Amino acid sequence: MDQKTLAVASVVLEDPPLDFAPISLVQSQLVVFDFDWSLADQDTDRWVHELLLPRLRIEFVERKSAYLLRELHKEGFTREQLEDALRQMPIVPLEKATTDTDFLLLSNSNEVYIGVILDHKGLAEPNPLFREIVTNPAAWDAQGMLHLSRRVPPDGPQHSCKVGCSANMCKGDELDAYRKRNADRGYQRIVYVGDGGNDYCPILRLGPQDVALVRRNRGLAKRILEEGNVQCQVRYWTGAWEAEQLLLALGGLRS
Ligand SMILES: [Mg+2]
Ligand SMILES: [Zn+2]
Repeated sequence: MDQKTLAVASVVLEDPPLDFAPISLVQSQLVVFDFDWSLADQDTDRWVHELLLPRLRIEFVERKSAYLLRELHKEGFTREQLEDALRQMPIVPLEKATTDTDFLLLSNSNEVYIGVILDHKGLAEPNPLFREIVTNPAAWDAQGMLHLSRRVPPDGPQHSCKVGCSANMCKGDELDAYRKRNADRGYQRIVYVGDGGNDYCPILRLGPQDVALVRRNRGLAKRILEEGNVQCQVRYWTGAWEAEQLLLALGGLRS
Protein backbone atom coordinates (compact mmCIF):
# COMPACT_ATOMS: atom_id res chain seq x y z
CA MET A 1 0.00 0.00 0.00
CA ASP A 2 1.43 3.42 -0.89
CA GLN A 3 1.90 6.12 1.72
CA LYS A 4 -0.99 8.26 0.52
CA THR A 5 -3.46 5.37 0.68
CA LEU A 6 -2.17 4.52 4.14
CA ALA A 7 -2.62 8.10 5.31
CA VAL A 8 -6.18 8.27 4.04
CA ALA A 9 -7.09 4.81 5.28
CA SER A 10 -5.90 5.38 8.81
CA VAL A 11 -8.35 6.93 11.22
CA VAL A 12 -7.16 10.23 12.59
CA LEU A 13 -9.65 11.77 14.94
CA GLU A 14 -8.98 15.30 15.99
CA ASP A 15 -8.37 15.24 19.72
CA PRO A 16 -11.77 16.33 21.01
CA PRO A 17 -12.03 18.58 24.08
CA LEU A 18 -11.38 16.62 27.25
CA ASP A 19 -14.63 15.22 28.58
CA PHE A 20 -14.36 14.19 32.20
CA ALA A 21 -17.93 15.25 32.97
CA PRO A 22 -19.33 13.25 35.86
CA ILE A 23 -21.24 10.13 34.92
CA SER A 24 -23.91 8.84 37.29
CA LEU A 25 -22.62 6.43 39.92
CA VAL A 26 -24.12 2.97 40.46
CA GLN A 27 -24.18 0.51 43.36
CA SER A 28 -22.53 -2.34 41.51
CA GLN A 29 -20.53 -2.31 38.31
CA LEU A 30 -18.10 -4.38 36.28
CA VAL A 31 -15.05 -2.82 34.64
CA VAL A 32 -13.73 -4.96 31.79
CA PHE A 33 -10.17 -4.34 30.63
CA ASP A 34 -8.63 -5.42 27.38
CA PHE A 35 -4.86 -5.79 27.97
CA ASP A 36 -2.67 -4.78 24.99
CA TRP A 37 -2.91 -1.03 24.35
CA SER A 38 -5.67 -0.74 26.97
CA LEU A 39 -4.50 -1.72 30.46
CA ALA A 40 -0.96 -1.94 29.07
CA ASP A 41 0.42 0.98 27.10
CA GLN A 42 1.97 -1.46 24.62
CA ASP A 43 1.38 -4.71 22.78
CA THR A 44 2.86 -7.49 24.96
CA ASP A 45 3.78 -9.72 21.99
CA ARG A 46 5.67 -6.92 20.29
CA TRP A 47 7.16 -5.42 23.45
CA VAL A 48 9.34 -8.38 24.40
CA HIS A 49 10.94 -8.42 20.94
CA GLU A 50 11.25 -4.66 20.88
CA LEU A 51 13.34 -4.86 24.03
CA LEU A 52 15.23 -8.09 23.49
CA LEU A 53 15.74 -8.63 19.76
CA PRO A 54 14.58 -5.68 17.64
CA ARG A 55 14.91 -7.49 14.31
CA LEU A 56 11.96 -9.62 15.39
CA ARG A 57 9.68 -6.67 15.97
CA ILE A 58 9.82 -6.11 12.21
CA GLU A 59 9.14 -9.76 11.44
CA PHE A 60 6.29 -9.49 13.93
CA VAL A 61 4.10 -8.00 11.20
CA GLU A 62 4.09 -11.27 9.26
CA ARG A 63 5.09 -13.96 11.68
CA LYS A 64 3.17 -15.79 14.33
CA SER A 65 4.01 -15.21 18.00
CA ALA A 66 5.00 -18.87 18.40
CA TYR A 67 7.67 -18.52 15.70
CA LEU A 68 9.06 -15.35 17.29
CA LEU A 69 9.29 -17.01 20.69
CA ARG A 70 11.19 -19.92 19.10
CA GLU A 71 13.61 -17.44 17.50
CA LEU A 72 14.10 -15.65 20.78
CA HIS A 73 14.88 -18.96 22.46
CA LYS A 74 17.25 -20.00 19.66
CA GLU A 75 19.15 -16.73 20.13
CA GLY A 76 19.71 -17.68 23.76
CA PHE A 77 17.29 -15.34 25.51
CA THR A 78 16.20 -16.76 28.84
CA ARG A 79 12.93 -16.89 30.70
CA GLU A 80 14.36 -14.35 33.17
CA GLN A 81 15.20 -11.89 30.38
CA LEU A 82 11.74 -12.20 28.91
CA GLU A 83 10.11 -11.71 32.31
CA ASP A 84 12.36 -8.71 32.98
CA ALA A 85 11.26 -7.12 29.72
CA LEU A 86 7.62 -7.61 30.70
CA ARG A 87 8.18 -5.98 34.08
CA GLN A 88 9.26 -2.79 32.32
CA MET A 89 5.95 -2.39 30.53
CA PRO A 90 3.96 0.75 31.44
CA ILE A 91 0.33 0.18 32.43
CA VAL A 92 -2.68 2.27 33.49
CA PRO A 93 -2.28 2.77 37.24
CA LEU A 94 -4.98 0.81 39.08
CA GLU A 95 -3.71 0.79 42.64
CA LYS A 96 -6.68 2.92 43.71
CA ALA A 97 -9.40 0.60 42.44
CA THR A 98 -12.59 0.84 44.49
CA THR A 99 -13.73 -2.30 46.25
CA ASP A 100 -17.37 -1.99 45.14
CA THR A 101 -16.32 -2.38 41.51
CA ASP A 102 -15.50 -5.80 40.02
CA PHE A 103 -12.70 -5.99 37.45
CA LEU A 104 -12.44 -8.53 34.62
CA LEU A 105 -9.42 -8.88 32.34
CA LEU A 106 -10.40 -10.05 28.86
CA SER A 107 -7.36 -10.37 26.63
CA ASN A 108 -6.01 -12.14 23.59
CA SER A 109 -2.49 -11.94 25.06
CA ASN A 110 -1.58 -14.87 27.32
CA GLU A 111 -1.58 -15.85 30.98
CA VAL A 112 2.21 -15.80 31.39
CA TYR A 113 2.70 -12.25 30.07
CA ILE A 114 -0.27 -10.96 32.03
CA GLY A 115 0.69 -12.87 35.18
CA VAL A 116 4.26 -11.51 35.24
CA ILE A 117 3.10 -7.92 34.69
CA LEU A 118 0.24 -7.96 37.21
CA ASP A 119 2.46 -9.62 39.79
CA HIS A 120 5.14 -6.97 39.33
CA LYS A 121 2.58 -4.16 39.65
CA GLY A 122 1.17 -5.63 42.87
CA LEU A 123 -2.18 -6.42 41.24
CA ALA A 124 -1.98 -10.22 41.58
CA GLU A 125 -1.99 -12.48 44.69
CA PRO A 126 -2.29 -11.84 47.62
CA ASN A 127 -4.53 -8.92 46.57
CA PRO A 128 -5.70 -9.72 43.06
CA LEU A 129 -7.41 -6.81 41.31
CA PHE A 130 -9.20 -8.98 38.76
CA ARG A 131 -12.07 -11.23 39.75
CA GLU A 132 -11.28 -13.29 36.64
CA ILE A 133 -8.63 -13.23 33.93
CA VAL A 134 -9.86 -14.62 30.62
CA THR A 135 -6.99 -15.09 28.17
CA ASN A 136 -4.95 -17.67 26.25
CA PRO A 137 -3.04 -20.37 28.17
CA ALA A 138 0.76 -20.35 28.02
CA ALA A 139 3.51 -22.36 29.71
CA TRP A 140 7.31 -22.51 30.01
CA ASP A 141 9.02 -25.75 29.08
CA ALA A 142 12.04 -27.16 30.94
CA GLN A 143 14.41 -25.45 28.46
CA GLY A 144 12.95 -22.04 29.28
CA MET A 145 10.95 -21.60 26.09
CA LEU A 146 7.44 -20.19 26.24
CA HIS A 147 4.64 -22.07 24.47
CA LEU A 148 1.33 -20.41 23.63
CA SER A 149 -2.04 -22.12 23.31
CA ARG A 150 -5.49 -20.91 22.29
CA ARG A 151 -8.39 -20.15 24.62
CA VAL A 152 -10.55 -21.99 22.07
CA PRO A 153 -8.33 -25.01 21.21
CA PRO A 154 -7.92 -25.73 17.48
CA ASP A 155 -8.98 -29.38 17.84
CA GLY A 156 -12.40 -28.81 19.46
CA PRO A 157 -15.58 -26.93 18.61
CA GLN A 158 -14.90 -23.39 17.33
CA HIS A 159 -16.84 -20.25 18.23
CA SER A 160 -19.37 -19.01 15.73
CA CYS A 161 -18.69 -15.27 15.90
CA LYS A 162 -19.15 -13.45 12.61
CA VAL A 163 -18.15 -10.02 13.88
CA GLY A 164 -14.43 -10.60 13.35
CA CYS A 165 -13.04 -11.99 16.61
CA SER A 166 -9.84 -14.02 16.21
CA ALA A 167 -10.02 -17.83 16.19
CA ASN A 168 -8.44 -17.84 19.68
CA MET A 169 -11.57 -16.49 21.34
CA CYS A 170 -14.77 -14.53 20.79
CA LYS A 171 -14.57 -11.71 23.31
CA GLY A 172 -18.33 -11.14 23.10
CA ASP A 173 -19.04 -14.79 23.97
CA GLU A 174 -16.49 -14.63 26.79
CA LEU A 175 -18.10 -11.50 28.24
CA ASP A 176 -21.57 -13.08 28.07
CA ALA A 177 -20.27 -16.26 29.73
CA TYR A 178 -18.66 -14.21 32.52
CA ARG A 179 -21.94 -12.36 33.11
CA LYS A 180 -23.79 -15.66 33.32
CA ARG A 181 -21.23 -17.10 35.77
CA ASN A 182 -21.49 -13.96 37.90
CA ALA A 183 -25.20 -13.20 37.61
CA ASP A 184 -25.45 -12.95 41.41
CA ARG A 185 -23.25 -9.83 41.33
CA GLY A 186 -26.18 -7.83 39.96
CA TYR A 187 -24.15 -5.44 37.85
CA GLN A 188 -26.06 -2.25 37.05
CA ARG A 189 -23.47 -1.16 34.56
CA ILE A 190 -20.57 -2.51 32.54
CA VAL A 191 -17.62 -0.30 31.67
CA TYR A 192 -15.44 -1.69 28.86
CA VAL A 193 -11.92 -0.35 28.29
CA GLY A 194 -10.59 -1.34 24.87
CA ASP A 195 -8.75 -0.35 21.72
CA GLY A 196 -8.70 -3.15 19.14
CA GLY A 197 -10.96 -4.35 16.34
CA ASN A 198 -11.70 -7.48 18.40
CA ASP A 199 -13.15 -5.33 21.21
CA TYR A 200 -15.98 -4.32 18.88
CA CYS A 201 -17.83 -7.66 19.33
CA PRO A 202 -18.21 -7.39 23.15
CA ILE A 203 -19.13 -3.72 22.86
CA LEU A 204 -22.03 -4.61 20.55
CA ARG A 205 -23.43 -6.65 23.46
CA LEU A 206 -23.57 -3.67 25.85
CA GLY A 207 -26.72 -1.64 26.54
CA PRO A 208 -27.51 2.08 26.94
CA GLN A 209 -26.62 2.00 30.67
CA ASP A 210 -23.10 0.73 29.85
CA VAL A 211 -20.02 2.77 28.91
CA ALA A 212 -17.19 2.00 26.48
CA LEU A 213 -13.88 3.77 27.12
CA VAL A 214 -12.33 3.63 23.67
CA ARG A 215 -8.71 4.42 22.85
CA ARG A 216 -8.52 6.96 20.02
CA ASN A 217 -7.05 6.29 16.59
CA ARG A 218 -7.10 2.53 16.82
CA GLY A 219 -9.14 -0.36 15.42
CA LEU A 220 -12.05 -0.16 17.85
CA ALA A 221 -12.60 3.57 17.28
CA LYS A 222 -12.47 2.94 13.54
CA ARG A 223 -15.06 0.15 13.69
CA ILE A 224 -17.41 2.18 15.90
CA LEU A 225 -17.23 5.07 13.43
CA GLU A 226 -17.56 2.96 10.29
CA GLU A 227 -19.94 0.22 11.41
CA GLY A 228 -21.92 1.90 14.20
CA ASN A 229 -24.67 -0.19 15.85
CA VAL A 230 -23.31 0.62 19.30
CA GLN A 231 -25.94 1.12 22.00
CA CYS A 232 -23.68 1.95 24.93
CA GLN A 233 -22.25 5.37 25.75
CA VAL A 234 -18.78 5.97 24.30
CA ARG A 235 -16.00 8.09 25.76
CA TYR A 236 -12.65 8.39 24.01
CA TRP A 237 -9.17 8.56 25.53
CA THR A 238 -5.53 8.53 24.38
CA GLY A 239 -3.14 8.57 27.34
CA ALA A 240 -3.37 6.39 30.43
CA TRP A 241 -4.00 9.50 32.54
CA GLU A 242 -7.21 10.16 30.57
CA ALA A 243 -8.43 6.59 31.10
CA GLU A 244 -7.66 7.12 34.78
CA GLN A 245 -9.79 10.30 34.91
CA LEU A 246 -12.69 8.54 33.19
CA LEU A 247 -12.51 5.64 35.65
CA LEU A 248 -12.51 8.16 38.49
CA ALA A 249 -15.65 9.78 37.06
CA LEU A 250 -17.26 6.33 36.86
CA GLY A 251 -16.39 5.45 40.45
CA GLY A 252 -14.04 2.60 39.47
CA LEU A 253 -11.07 4.38 41.06
CA ARG A 254 -10.87 6.57 44.14
CA SER A 255 -9.03 9.88 44.12
MG1 LIG B 1 -5.88 -4.27 22.82
ZN1 LIG C 1 -16.98 -12.20 18.69
